[in-house]
Amino acid sequence: MDIIIIGGGTSGLLSALVMEKEGHNVTIFEKEDVIGGLCRSEKIGDYTVDIGVHAITMLNNGPLIRILNKYSRYIPNFKNYGEYYVKTDKLNKVPVSMHEWMTTPIIPNKDKILVTSKIMDLMTTGFTKEASVYDIIKDMGLNETSINFFNTISYFLSGEDMKNTPLWRFFTGAGYIPEDDILPFIYKDMKINPLKSTIVKKFGTERIINILNDGFLTSIKNGSKKYINKFTNEQRYWTQGYPIGGVQSICNCITYSLKSTKIKNEEVKKIVKDGKKYVVKTNEGEYIADTIIYSAPSYLLPKIAKIDKIQRNKEKLKNIKFTKSTTIWVGDKTNYFPYMGSEIWIDNPCWASTVSNYDESLAPKGKHLMGFSFVNSTKERALETIENKLNINLDKADMVYVQETIPEQASCSIGQFFVYPKIDDSFYVVGTDADPRSMGITRAAYSVEVMISEFKNVYDTPKNI
Ligand SMILES: Cc1cc2nc3c(=O)[nH]c(=O)nc-3n(C[C@H](O)[C@H](O)[C@H](O)COP(=O)(O)OP(=O)(O)OC[C@H]3O[C@@H](n4cnc5c(N)ncnc54)[C@H](O)[C@@H]3O)c2cc1C
Repeated sequence: MDIIIIGGGTSGLLSALVMEKEGHNVTIFEKEDVIGGLCRSEKIGDYTVDIGVHAITMLNNGPLIRILNKYSRYIPNFKNYGEYYVKTDKLNKVPVSMHEWMTTPIIPNKDKILVTSKIMDLMTTGFTKEASVYDIIKDMGLNETSINFFNTISYFLSGEDMKNTPLWRFFTGAGYIPEDDILPFIYKDMKINPLKSTIVKKFGTERIINILNDGFLTSIKNGSKKYINKFTNEQRYWTQGYPIGGVQSICNCITYSLKSTKIKNEEVKKIVKDGKKYVVKTNEGEYIADTIIYSAPSYLLPKIAKIDKIQRNKEKLKNIKFTKSTTIWVGDKTNYFPYMGSEIWIDNPCWASTVSNYDESLAPKGKHLMGFSFVNSTKERALETIENKLNINLDKADMVYVQETIPEQASCSIGQFFVYPKIDDSFYVVGTDADPRSMGITRAAYSVEVMISEFKNVYDTPKNI
């Protein structure tokens, strides 16, 4: 089968890998001179900087690892990421477990008790899918630092502030509630039969029917014992890592595993249907495919794809919200974060990390490479925040490089529209706007797994829904 993939980012490359190994004839179209999309590194002088500060999640049994294990000849070498910290007079772990919430110096003692009992409360009484983080904390009487802390955490969990961050994202992001448990609701909203997905294989139809019939609120309540156990347990349920060689090595492992896939450096301008086939048009030519896998931003689909089902969803697609981020890379002889992990700044939400702690070769000898990713900040404010916080003069640093990027094709805000990976007969969509679970590379990989299950038609037959 002739398959054309539009976009050579993580989701496009993973799709190519799977399809090639399944025996198809694959061509990727990438508009930039380089492939990798946002999962790329570039040379700035003697430094190797990534596009944005990255930590790759779910390395224990997540979708990226599942796909790479099955199809790739190479797997990146990940170094354990370490912890997320907030600095007061010392470094404090971002609290996840009940014990950590009760002992963290980040928020006042009164707030520790309020927050811990609220989390237990919500797991016992349940909450609605539409509730935001702010809806819950606004009447709790928390002090300003605690409120700012929740706002910052919200940005990292969803790309949006606490008013627009769904409460379920807080619970799934912390690992208390499995991410798959929210899928039936999201799919139902998307008017997709929730039984048509990989989650059926995992949970079975009965469990999904129960979740749907009970409603979000009660399903949380029914699972509360299990969720509370996770909260009261000290154990972290997720693993995170940083790839040696920078995020480029994820992209490289996939491309080095490709054998027959062709990569064309052409921007796709139009896709039209011709009977059962699709015609892909670029400035250079026209190409015919049996199947399309589209991994570029979905909000551009109505402009590019003149296909009925896509045009019918025009407004929803155009309104997909994404977040802008500003990353500042600093190379210097002083290492401001001489530990594995990241520091989270609350006043101007930022996460900062020394990536050369994981791989010294990313910086020249005797120098360190530090990344500062800000959400919702201007470049000027970001630079000023770094100077004030670290008490440094960036003019004197060895290297300063500014990146202004869009971190996700879709944020995870309340009411966000996600495209289901099968949009037309043989037209699939992958990428971070095609799955509500997790964020970043993990989310891109989830969308590829659902796409594959649809492509291979491996889902249960719908019964009662
Ligand atoms: C600041 C920042 C921090 C981040 N932090 C993390 C993190 O900690 N952990 C994590 O997992 N992820 C993180 N990410 C996100 C992660 O990098 C992305 O989610 C992931 O790389 C997206 O992959 P994708 O394939 O869905 O999309 P993209 O990488 O956006 O790929 C889309 C590709 O399509 C191409 N394209 C677009 N239009 C066309 C067209 N018409 N024709 C041909 N080609 C086209 C683009 O050039 C691009 O290469 C971060 C990103 C940024 C910017």
